[in-house]
Amino acid sequence: MSSGFALAKFCPPCGHVVDDRNFGKNDPCKTCGRECDRRRFLFEGEEQEFLTMVFECYRSKYSRPACLLLSCSLMELHLRMLILHRWRWLGIKWPSLTTTLKEKWRFKQQVDLFASLTGTSLFKLRLTKRLFSRHAALVSKRDRLAHGLTGAAWLVTKEEVRSSVELAAESFTVFAQLHHRYCSVDAPPLPEA
Ligand SMILES: [Zn+2]
Repeated sequence: MSSGFALAKFCPPCGHVVDDRNFGKNDPCKTCGRECDRRRFLFEGEEQEFLTMVFECYRSKYSRPACLLLSCSLMELHLRMLILHRWRWLGIKWPSLTTTLKEKWRFKQQVDLFASLTGTSLFKLRLTKRLFSRHAALVSKRDRLAHGLTGAAWLVTKEEVRSSVELAAESFTVFAQLHHRYCSVDAPPLPEA
């Protein structure tokens, strides 16, 4: 069930992403026209595993509130991977990215980091608006749940569980488009300081 959401692939030479399911294995790249049968999966890290866990918790009797924890973690993972790809695409010789990401571990800090690499705030894009506001609405509940506050699990409503599952599912299309836009040959350069 979860694999259908994470199918986006990209063409290694140009970095453009295709998430059209009808796109054949041997079709030439829609953007650079290259025949590319080595097209790689975009989400080949743990993203898909998070999604599988979200669906599994959703189907379970007692673990449904955990969908909220997992979906928010998935969003953070997506964002971190996007920054990583963007960083590699720019080939910047800055201090270690790993250190930077460890220092700026909060979601908002990473959104700011992405803005410094692209000149674009993910909070203001049309593409990300729905996804990010859904995420923002769930975050405070997530924090209560993550820190084991009394009664936190009961406070998670059915609607929030549903919203978490939708957040996880929708995140793949949105992040595929962000990779397409900011990590491929015709992506915008590093903004001037
Ligand atoms: Zn291509």
